[in-house]
Amino acid sequence: MPFCDGVKLQEAYRRAQAERFAFMANNIAEPSILIGLLEAYAEARSDLLVQISPGAAKYAGGGDKRAGLRALSALVRELAEPYPIRVFINLDHFTADEMGLIEEAIDVRLVSSVMIDASREAFEENVRISRTVAEKAKGTGILIEAELGKIRGVEDEVASDEALYTDPDEAAEFVKRTGADLLAISVGTQHGVSKGRDLELRADLATKIRDRLVRAGIDAPLVLHGTSGLLPEQVREMIGYGICKLNKDTHYQYVFGRTACEFFAAHAEGIIPPAGVEDDVVNLFAKGDWSPDKKVFDPRVVGREIQAKVREIALVLIDQAGSGGKTLWVQKEGRR
Ligand SMILES: [Zn+2]
Repeated sequence: MPFCDGVKLQEAYRRAQAERFAFMANNIAEPSILIGLLEAYAEARSDLLVQISPGAAKYAGGGDKRAGLRALSALVRELAEPYPIRVFINLDHFTADEMGLIEEAIDVRLVSSVMIDASREAFEENVRISRTVAEKAKGTGILIEAELGKIRGVEDEVASDEALYTDPDEAAEFVKRTGADLLAISVGTQHGVSKGRDLELRADLATKIRDRLVRAGIDAPLVLHGTSGLLPEQVREMIGYGICKLNKDTHYQYVFGRTACEFFAAHAEGIIPPAGVEDDVVNLFAKGDWSPDKKVFDPRVVGREIQAKVREIALVLIDQAGSGGKTLWVQKEGRR
């Protein structure tokens, strides 16, 4: 049973903290990126953390977040089954607006962990909302990630124009009062496409936050969002400062778009009718001599290209995170 709960995810973070490596947390919204990830992580012998955002749930559910969340969670659990690694699911950037869905995800164990994002709110309100979710999860084996500080950029349905760095003095109080298992911090990364060389990255802050937490007797792993534009040396530096989870969404979106774009550009003649041929999608060109080529327009063909490219890029990112060869999966956990 490769899909594992938060108790096993906690074990994975503990080992990451002790051995100074991290997990990339990879967003999914459809099967191709997931399949590429599963292939890469199994090959690298790394446990895999995938994330579902409210926007991804809404997309996969054709507008119905609840249906989409249940469908994506089932997709991950079913597809993960034959792989000899542990696979975890995190809810990414769920807000107080989705409280009903968060409760259901916890109650029926759809996921291994939940990120409650109330970072837009003032400190006290952020504490109150985050604590509500942490209390709900208590005793269920599901971990809670909360965020303090604001990360610039647009992530899914949450947008912020300003970067608000996490205050190390507030961090320990925040974790203590909320009971959160993981803390997402803002140290200058951005959601969306960013350039590592342009970021005002304050890596020293991560160390300060970590020190304050340790002094307060808290060993909550730190999480960094908006890491798609980080340079490899910046990733390694942040892991050295105690970051255990690095969120990746935009990066695989680009890999998806780029691969599809190149594939369709190279095979346009099998899909778009040439000049002089009457366009006839309705009858699938049944009246004329020209026919489109099923070998290139079948979505599974480009889908397989995307899966292969995701696998290739994921192997590089696993190497950056250092999680390769560190799976905690053991034979007795079973394989279908
Ligand atoms: Zn994020």
